[in-house]
Amino acid sequence: MIHINRPPKSRNPQSLNPINSLQNPSFSQSRMPSFLSKSFLRLPPKSLLFPMSTVAAAKSRLRGVVFDMDGTLTVPVIDFAAMYKAVLGDVEYKRIKAENPSGIDILHHIESWSPEKQQEAYKIIADFEKQGLDRLQIMPGAAELCGFLDAKKIRRGLITRNVKDAVDLFHQRFGMMFSPALSREFRPYKPSPAPLLHICSTWDVQPNEVMMVGDSLKDDVACGKNAGALTCLLDEKGRYGSQDFANLDLTPDFKVSSLIEVHSLLKSNFDLTP
Ligand SMILES: [Mg+2]
Repeated sequence: MIHINRPPKSRNPQSLNPINSLQNPSFSQSRMPSFLSKSFLRLPPKSLLFPMSTVAAAKSRLRGVVFDMDGTLTVPVIDFAAMYKAVLGDVEYKRIKAENPSGIDILHHIESWSPEKQQEAYKIIADFEKQGLDRLQIMPGAAELCGFLDAKKIRRGLITRNVKDAVDLFHQRFGMMFSPALSREFRPYKPSPAPLLHICSTWDVQPNEVMMVGDSLKDDVACGKNAGALTCLLDEKGRYGSQDFANLDLTPDFKVSSLIEVHSLLKSNFDLTP
């Protein structure tokens, strides 16, 4: 099922994000993607979501898709809760989790620690990530989606908070290349928009011509939104209910429960002419 959510409130009305055209009457109507028209967004019946005969000419171009790696291109195998508990200890884990209901940013959290304590924490994280690598599996639909993007000459990039070694292994094991592929050695990492803006600049495309696809609201959707890109949340297990989108700044433009759905989502909403 493809869900199309309401557009977020604009933080910066001058942003290139096409969503902001809703609040900016000077924004050219012709540049507004069809799926972002107010009436379109408020029409839940599926039959009304894709009035092809009237909107086909207004579809926006999509020039690139940037993927998260763990839990998006690969099946989630890292037990993040166990990792956080091992790094923080049970008591501290519970306290920090209560303060951050949308998820713990462990990398950011340990940045303020002493070098010795940080080193210990990174070792624990690396151990968990290594266990994840040993059990690495490609996400269903990922290979087909990449083939589809290649056929349409749409660029593919990757941004992960995992390390470069993990990205190299992913590339080797599954034989599909993403370029640029930025790991956590690229600072600042997600949810900063920096890695996504770097990829847009490398590709020489505008952020609003790029879609960020990932399974984390606080990292992937936030990174995409911060950069002014389109965002698609992969929510395989229905982890994210509507209350998670109460903060409209983090409402994804699209939500899917499988990568297999992304293919039809792109065909329905974008001009994919190579
Ligand atoms: Mg992920």
